Amino acid sequence: MKSQKGTKLSYSFVGEPATETVRWFIEGVHKKMQEHGHEYHESPNDETGLIFNLVTAETARPYRRKSQSVFIVSILEGKIPQGHILETVYPHLLKNISNLLIYHAKNGGELHSYFVTPEQGYPRVILRDGNMEEYFENAYERIAPLACSRFVINNEFLPDLPDELAEGTEKTRQLYYAGRKLDEMDLLPTVIKIEQFLSEDALRQLWRLYRVGGLSYGNLSVRNDEQTFWMSASGVDKSNLQKVGEHIHLVKGYDKKKYAILVSIPKHIKRPNRVSVDAIEHWMIYTENPGVGAIIHAHCWVDDAATKLTGHTVAATKTSYPCGTVELGEDTASVIRNAPDPSRVVVCQKNHGIVITGKDLKDIFDRIDNGSIRIVKQIEMT
Ligand SMILES: [Zn+2]
Repeated sequence: MKSQKGTKLSYSFVGEPATETVRWFIEGVHKKMQEHGHEYHESPNDETGLIFNLVTAETARPYRRKSQSVFIVSILEGKIPQGHILETVYPHLLKNISNLLIYHAKNGGELHSYFVTPEQGYPRVILRDGNMEEYFENAYERIAPLACSRFVINNEFLPDLPDELAEGTEKTRQLYYAGRKLDEMDLLPTVIKIEQFLSEDALRQLWRLYRVGGLSYGNLSVRNDEQTFWMSASGVDKSNLQKVGEHIHLVKGYDKKKYAILVSIPKHIKRPNRVSVDAIEHWMIYTENPGVGAIIHAHCWVDDAATKLTGHTVAATKTSYPCGTVELGEDTASVIRNAPDPSRVVVCQKNHGIVITGKDLKDIFDRIDNGSIRIVKQIEMT
């Protein structure tokens, strides 16, 4: 079972360490996990929520998990990345079907360890001067919050969308233009194209079975009424958000017990796409802040000093939780809730991207266009 935040995880190691570094690393992690009171299983069973999968740079070996809620951390040692770091490290995350990849590389007298996430985060922990206590505490802090977070994977589709909404509305048309605009601004593509490492079929499977790799980066939504909002669907081309029930969904609620997003669809749609994984986060923001009329999320960053100068609240989340988790939603929603004006906030999500709220979509893009929100492409990795 997946543990909730603050509760204990049960974990196992699978495979043999291929290098001394990996052996040393898992011993250190094991010790940390024990110190924090997590439960060790010598071999995985149905209760094991976290698997450390020991692989090599040469051969991928995905661990066959029985349940989507098992969190897989693959660990290997490789060469120091050349060029863009993601080009070296990200394929290992995909090929080993992992929720987190820890890539170790020796660089002179230092050990560099990259913590690579499906969202294409790749923060680095460095072992300097043999300071193991600091290194392993840091490593632990990058594993535990991720492994403890709860994914809102389920969608419950209700074929009750009124005909007049199924045709599309002024709001859904605004969403279409906003998606095109994000594309024109070059804010939708990913840093690296994962299609170059895996076939489209393999990618689809990864996404369907494991929610790994098929993330389409960025999403956008607009409030429909007090209770509901329109949001881009998952895995669709955001520059062409035309059809309701296919590219755009009406989100009408969240079932806390089932961890399910309630989506209202037109009767004629038989196999709907899921709504964007971040629907849980948007749902929290809209329900808490009546003044928020639109939200966009992109994998880029802002020049926060310049943006603050123009009177905007730029605030950051402190932990890098995975996309589509209750924790990322709560973290982001709390930053927005605590801002002087929740309807005009830029949130920098740690090692991930930005979330901007606005009174409506135009309000967001006007501020980007007139330079009061200063977008930069490079996401800070900390
Ligand atoms: Zn994202």
